[in-house]
Amino acid sequence: MTLERSDFSNKTVLVTGAGQGIGAAIAKIFASRGANVAINDVNKTVADETVKEIASFGGTSKFFRADVTDESQINAMVKSIIDAFGSLDILVNNAGILGTSKTDELTVENWDRTLSINLKGAFICCKAALAEMKKKKYGKIINISSLAGESGGIVVAADYSASKAGLLALTKKLALEVAEFNINVNAIAPGTTKTPMIDAISDEENSKLVSRIPLKRLGEPEDIAYATCFLASQEASYITGTTLDVNGGLLMR
Ligand code: NAP
Repeated sequence: MTLERSDFSNKTVLVTGAGQGIGAAIAKIFASRGANVAINDVNKTVADETVKEIASFGGTSKFFRADVTDESQINAMVKSIIDAFGSLDILVNNAGILGTSKTDELTVENWDRTLSINLKGAFICCKAALAEMKKKKYGKIINISSLAGESGGIVVAADYSASKAGLLALTKKLALEVAEFNINVNAIAPGTTKTPMIDAISDEENSKLVSRIPLKRLGEPEDIAYATCFLASQEASYITGTTLDVNGGLLMR
């Protein structure tokens, strides 16, 4: 094994939902380490901002608008990414939505929408990326799950927790299937992290939560982004099928 520090020059990374929050932080850190970054989102306004920030420090990125629930849009996007950058080496399934309804008030429509974006969307993106990764016998897939997928969650709705638990099972199943192609598949389970997504949670709930977190703070998007870069790096090449907890010590397994 050669001992060399990873950077991501000559690697192409697709980050879904990269217009804001955790996805934007992941995109910026990969770009700062030399990767070509494909910024996917449904929201052009925020995605353009991420592309602009990356350009401001000399990084390379491009916006690809596509809805992760739409297989034809995702297949076309992956083709466009390979046309633009020459390959697709790393996929970060980050796009997601959050609800906070109690189960007896949760509608079937909302259940389906959450499962569709948070779980089916990741499956569609994995499927679209695998042909290129298998051909090259190289690939890294990182699924952004959640502490709620492991513990059930506190204020989040059941559709969210179920979608994130499903993502952990998808991670393990896919890791087993594609290991022979030198493709690593891992998940990250963030605790509550300061992004627009948690606007749905009251300050009071968040303060109560912080008092229970051993490291006494909420996560920053960069905390999740550094963990993602680690799982995509050469340093993590013997890690697959695992879930990395990034939660300030709130859940220890
Ligand atoms: P965020 O701030 O809401 O950002 C998510 C981005 O994904 C938004 O730009 C959103 O666009 C986009 N998106 C939504 N549906 C999409 C679709 N169908 N196709 C493509 N893009 C789509 O969320 P975040 O907090 O950064 O969360 C990122 C990931 O981390 C999510 O999977 C989330 O579940 C997970 N996570 C977050 C936390 C947390 O506390 N923040 C904790 C654990 C796990 P719109 O805004 O237009 O919908």
